[in-house]
Amino acid sequence: MSTHSPHTSALPLDMMIFGGTGDLAARKLLPALYMAHLHGNLPQKTSIVALGRQAYSRNDYIEFVENMSRPFIGKMNFDESAWAGFLGLLDYLCVDVINDPDFTSLARVSDAGAERVFYLATAPTLFTTICDKLAASGLVDANSRVVLEKPLGRDSASAAAINDAVGRHFKEEQIYRIDHYLGKETVQNLMVLRFGNSIFEPLWRAPTISSVQITVAETVGVGSRAGFYDSTGAMRDMVQNHLLQLLCIIAMEPPVSLSPDAVRDEKLKVLRSLRKMSMADIARDTVRGRYGRGAIGAEEVIGYLDEADVPEASSTETFVALRAHVDTWRWANVPFYLRTGKRMHKHSSRIVIEFTNPPFSIFPDSHGGIANRLVIELQPEEAIRFQIMSKQPGSGMQMHPVELNLDLQSAFPQRRAEAYERLLIDVVRGRLTHFMRRDELEAAWDWVEPIIDGWSVLGERPHAYAAGTCGPSAAAALLARDGFAWTE
Ligand code: NAP
Repeated sequence: MSTHSPHTSALPLDMMIFGGTGDLAARKLLPALYMAHLHGNLPQKTSIVALGRQAYSRNDYIEFVENMSRPFIGKMNFDESAWAGFLGLLDYLCVDVINDPDFTSLARVSDAGAERVFYLATAPTLFTTICDKLAASGLVDANSRVVLEKPLGRDSASAAAINDAVGRHFKEEQIYRIDHYLGKETVQNLMVLRFGNSIFEPLWRAPTISSVQITVAETVGVGSRAGFYDSTGAMRDMVQNHLLQLLCIIAMEPPVSLSPDAVRDEKLKVLRSLRKMSMADIARDTVRGRYGRGAIGAEEVIGYLDEADVPEASSTETFVALRAHVDTWRWANVPFYLRTGKRMHKHSSRIVIEFTNPPFSIFPDSHGGIANRLVIELQPEEAIRFQIMSKQPGSGMQMHPVELNLDLQSAFPQRRAEAYERLLIDVVRGRLTHFMRRDELEAAWDWVEPIIDGWSVLGERPHAYAAGTCGPSAAAALLARDGFAWTE
């Protein structure tokens, strides 16, 4: 098996997963750890201890992993002996973080000289207790790291409370706040596109750029997560983290290096430059939506209000579109349109940079649309397309848009690590660049929270949209008003 950059740390690794019996651990973390093991990216001496309340023996837990995690490992990546080796790294401990007085059972199985990684894949309401008890049980030292899953709070105050609680026992450089979008190859490639090429940077500003669109569209509905989702909504679940992080990478100034703080300082400046919305701005520049009955491809699907566990009186949004402004010289008067939703017509994450049209046209038969547009497809396709004008063959000088098309999957046919695998390897190696710093998280909440509050003051109800469409018509109108349209 490939061992491109084998792990070289001499210290043993103890990875302890709180929430080891949960959906996230089963579907994402354990398969990602298996892949890291398969590719030689875990230290020689690694132990993975899963924790949960189930009264499992180690063998029961191995069976759980066989049933719940193995199906998430593609056939191509499955290697019988690597899998057996991976299962050999696993252990299970039954721990109730609320009711157990301390974590001495965990301390007993942890090597005193190991680098300890505590992955908190539980509800954030447990984070404070977990960190307090880890520290009280003598498990936190200078070699320890803690990984925090989203959602980190539901507003500025709760995010600050979690950060304070974790910060009592871990220094900021020991805290890895996961936004799995930052682990995606294509998202990391945005930095290379912008700062590894000299052609874009001089043009990457107002007035050459006329608008930026960021769309993260899902075809899935709320599924079995309504209990969580109904008290969260698309703004907290997607915009506050993933979409704002993408906006930061598009809008930030060139960092002086790739060091974690150099990058995060620049992202923080963007978040602090986001124009705060007044009530009038909220009413005009934001659209909330909620999917109704419809069809995704050939499959008929129910509306949000008919999903299991959604309260009848729910006013939670499953869709958000908004117009934001980054108040800096570089981005003066350039609208950033953000959009995310569930049950949309296609699963697609993309960034579209529209450039201004030439100030004067010498071509009488000119095409009325956008001359230059850079489309960065993040998923499911990984592609970069640049639209330029070309002469339509034939007599006369008629223009037509054509695309320079870079298919990244063909350019780099090798295996792409999943976001969680890449981020877990970063945690193991102590690389913080692709994790959020406390001040970033809090600045994101400072911008988002007044909008959510404003919706409730204004009594904004979500606009209906049929499942399988591009969202409510008000989202199209948001751009049409400025002379733009979503690139679908
Ligand atoms: P889940 O399936 O409900 O799992 C929750 C986990 O927490 C279980 O392992 C459960 O253990 C454990 N737990 C709950 N109370 C506990 C206690 N008192 N003591 C010890 N363990 C306890 O939830 P999930 O979907 O995995 O999500 C976990 C967190 O990650 C949530 O905050 C979620 O929002 C976030 N997240 C999830 C996903 C995802 O794809 N699932 C993606 C991003 C973020 P027992 O079952 O053994 O009691």
